[in-house]
Amino acid sequence: MGQNGQGDGVRQRPCQNRNSEPNLILCEGFFVDETKTWMCLICGWIYDELLGAPEQGLAPGMRWADVPLNWTCPECAARKEDFELVQI
Ligand SMILES: [Zn+2]
Repeated sequence: MGQNGQGDGVRQRPCQNRNSEPNLILCEGFFVDETKTWMCLICGWIYDELLGAPEQGLAPGMRWADVPLNWTCPECAARKEDFELVQI
C-alpha cells in the first residue's frame, strides 16, 4: 500500500543510459562496438551478437548479457551458462 502510482522509479527515456539499461541498446541500431560470439558447449550452436538470432527472438545486435536468462539453445535446450565466449 506504500505505492502512489507515479513512482520516480519509472524510466522511459530510451537511448540515454544504455549502460544501466542494456535492453535499450537496440534503439541505437546494431552497430554496437565489440560484439562477441558465443558458442554452446553442448552442441556447438553459435550466437553472434552482431547477427543476433531473429528466429529465436534475439534481435541483431543483442548483447549476450541482454539475452533472457530463461532463453535456451535452439538446438539442444542448453542454458546460457552452458555457452562460452568464442575468441575469433
Ligand atoms: Zn546447444
